[in-house]
Amino acid sequence: MNTETVPNGLRILFVWAGLLLAGCATSSLGKHHPPSRYEFERPQMGLPFRLVLYATTPALATNAAEAAWSRIAELNAILSDYEPESELSRLSRTGGSGRWIPLGRDLSRVLIAANMLSRDSNGAFDVTVGPEVALWKRARRQRELPSKTAIAEARRLSGWTLVELRRRSGMHEALVARSGMRLDLGAIAKGYALDEAALVLRQAGIRRFLLAGGGDMVMGDPPPGQTGWRVEAGVFDTPEAPTRRLLHLANTALATSGDSFQRAEMGGVRYSHIVDPRTGIGMTDHSLVTVICPSAMLADALSTAVSVLGPTGGPDFAAHHGAEVWILRKPSSKVEETQSAGFPREQTPSPHEGR
Ligand code: AMP
Ligand code: MG
Repeated sequence: MNTETVPNGLRILFVWAGLLLAGCATSSLGKHHPPSRYEFERPQMGLPFRLVLYATTPALATNAAEAAWSRIAELNAILSDYEPESELSRLSRTGGSGRWIPLGRDLSRVLIAANMLSRDSNGAFDVTVGPEVALWKRARRQRELPSKTAIAEARRLSGWTLVELRRRSGMHEALVARSGMRLDLGAIAKGYALDEAALVLRQAGIRRFLLAGGGDMVMGDPPPGQTGWRVEAGVFDTPEAPTRRLLHLANTALATSGDSFQRAEMGGVRYSHIVDPRTGIGMTDHSLVTVICPSAMLADALSTAVSVLGPTGGPDFAAHHGAEVWILRKPSSKVEETQSAGFPREQTPSPHEGR
C-alpha cells in the first residue's frame, strides 16, 4: 500500500523532500478517473509551504492549488508585521492616536480570537509582544542580552489590554493605546491562513489534501485507501528525546511550537523566539509543544500559548479549547514529557529513524 509520511516540527522545512510521501501521481485510466496524487511547493509567509492533494484531473489540481496559494498570499499582505503596508502594520502605526480603526474581515477575526486567548491565558498569549519579540531577535543576532531598560520599555509598549476591540454599525474596530506598539501575529496568522486555504481547496472540490507550512498543517480526508495522513510528531532536538510518533490524522490540524530553529545561547542560557509576556523575556525551558485540534488557527495559537504556560497550566488551557497537547521540555538535564489523555500515542517507528 502506498503510504504518506509527513514529518512534524520545524524540521519539516529542511528534510521534507526526502522523507515524504513516497509514490508519484499516477495517471488515471478508465472512465471514472480515480483521483491521482499531486504535490505543490511554494514559499509563503516567508516559509516553504507544501500542498499534497488528490484530484481527478491535472487542471483541477493546479487550479485548486493556485487558488489556495493566492488566498495565503492575500492574507500575508493583510496580517504580516514585516510588510510595512499590511493592514496590521498600518493599524500598529495608529497607536496613541486615540482613533478607532475599522478592521477588515480577516484581521478582525484574528484579533478577536487573539483577544479571547489572551484573556483566557491571563496574558500568556499576547499579540502585542512585537516590541519584545524585536528586542530578543536583535539580542539573538548580536549575541548580547537586552538591557533592563530596553526590556522595561518593550514591556511598556506591550500588553493585550492595550488593544481594545468594539463593534460599530456592523464593523469591528480597534483602538491601539500607545504610540510605538507593534502587533505581531506570528503565532496565529499562519494557522488562520491554513484554515482559509483549506476552505478554498474544499470549495474547489478537493477533499483529500494536506497543506503544511512552518511546522503547522491542516488535513482534509486521507489519501485513498488510508485512514489518515501519516505525520511524524515529536522531533525534539536533543539526544535524550523520547521516540517520535507516527500519527495518522485526517480532517484536523496540527501545530508545533519550539525553539529548535529560532533561539540563541547567551551567558550559557538558551533563549527562544517565544517571549513570556509576563516578564518580557524569551522562554528558556527548551520545549517542543504539539497541538492537535480541528482549527489550524487555534492549534497554532495554542501551541505558542502552551509553550508559555508550560506543563502546569498548558494542558488545562488546551483542554478548555478542545485541543490535545503533547509537551516535551528540557529545562535542565532531563527531558520532561506531559500529554493530554487524548493525544494519539501511536509509536510506529518511522522508516527514517536510525538513519
Ligand atoms: P509559533 O512558532 O507559532 O510558536 O509562533 C512564534 C511567534 O509568535 C514568534 O516568532 C513571535 O512572532 C510570536 N510570539 C512570541 N511570543 C508570543 C506570545 N507569548 N504570544 C503570542 N505571540 C508570540
Ligand atoms: Mg503558534
